[in-house]
Amino acid sequence: MHNRPTNKNGGESAAPDLSALSRFRRAYRGLLRKREQEQRALWHFQYFELQMIRSQDLQSLLQLLLREAPGYFKLGGTKLQLYDPDGTVCEIFTESLGTLPDNLVFTGEGHELQALFPAGIKVRMLEPGEELISGETVAQTSTGAVVLLPLVRQGTLVGCLQLAGTAESGFQSPDAEDRLVHFSALVAICIENCSNRERLRLHSLIDALTGVRNRRGFEESLDKEVARAKRTGLPLTAMFVDLDHFKRVNDKYGHPCGDRVLVEIVRNIGEVLRPTDMLSRYGGEEFVALLPACDDGQAKSIARRINLSVAALDLFDDTGELFHLSCSVGYSSWLDPALPGVDAPTVAQHLIGQADKAVYRAKQAGRDRARYLPL
Ligand code: GH3
Ligand code: MG
Ligand code: MG
Repeated sequence: MHNRPTNKNGGESAAPDLSALSRFRRAYRGLLRKREQEQRALWHFQYFELQMIRSQDLQSLLQLLLREAPGYFKLGGTKLQLYDPDGTVCEIFTESLGTLPDNLVFTGEGHELQALFPAGIKVRMLEPGEELISGETVAQTSTGAVVLLPLVRQGTLVGCLQLAGTAESGFQSPDAEDRLVHFSALVAICIENCSNRERLRLHSLIDALTGVRNRRGFEESLDKEVARAKRTGLPLTAMFVDLDHFKRVNDKYGHPCGDRVLVEIVRNIGEVLRPTDMLSRYGGEEFVALLPACDDGQAKSIARRINLSVAALDLFDDTGELFHLSCSVGYSSWLDPALPGVDAPTVAQHLIGQADKAVYRAKQAGRDRARYLPL
């Protein structure tokens, strides 16, 4: 016969409930596991956010959001919609990226964007098949639900990031909501930062007086165009335009009138050029155009049209007195960019050097004409 266990006071104590203890242990281990999972999910998010913060330009930021995020977060896809009432946002992105990805769209319809987030919702979770008001711009995928994140800056809705096919991502769980709110705020800030940086960069490439590219902008487009010519094998022409006796305009009509003339002439030359040609102010009263897919024959007729069009332009001084101006044009063409073994930067410098020399030939020959020098 066994004695029942007694406590210090001689009373009976209850037998330990082993099943309750193991239930407690199991629950505790479950909680720990859940905590670890949450911690891992947080780190996963934070690592991605860190990459976004480190993105120095739109290109790398969009690479992350629109290309890498789906694989990283186990999503069906992502799509970015940005508010762009006057087309300037699209311009900045196009300048930065070259070609825009399909999952980046711009909308001028602020109310459509607003309608996606009724009553200031911070994260909108859509079930598969749930209709959207602007169904055209925000597509549902067949792979599952969609999360819509509003992108807000200074209290204004500036866009929407769509995370599609979120079934495996865990984004539909209530736990994820706080992380997504944080994530969307950071996305909005990073897009704004990179856009502003790009805007500043573009601004620094533009000539304040005439609105065309300045010397720095020209150097940048020269590198791009030479690389493009090499890639496509299409000829590239560089064409200098130097105004004749421009100093006399300043001397006779004053500097402000000279400034107005420069603006008028740029507009005039721009009308002769094709939309793909790039006109830059090389310095002072000297301009340079890069003409992609343009050989010496086509360049000859463009140069002639520039001469005729500038000479025919009616210019007026501050008192309304009519005067005219002519220009000298020099150009050179890279006719065979497909030939292997050429060093692109060397070709670029040589092309500019030849076109520049050709202007002086035109000046020496009597001005108001064009001259060509082969590469
Ligand atoms: P040429 O036919 O030999 O080219 O004679 P030019 O007078 O055009 O050439 P020159 O190089 O002697 O003078 C260029 C003039 O362009 C002198 C300068 O005052 C003027 N110029 C340069 N930049 C500007 C500008 O931004 N505004 C105004 N109004 N004038 C400018
Ligand atoms: Mg001149
Ligand atoms: Mg000059």
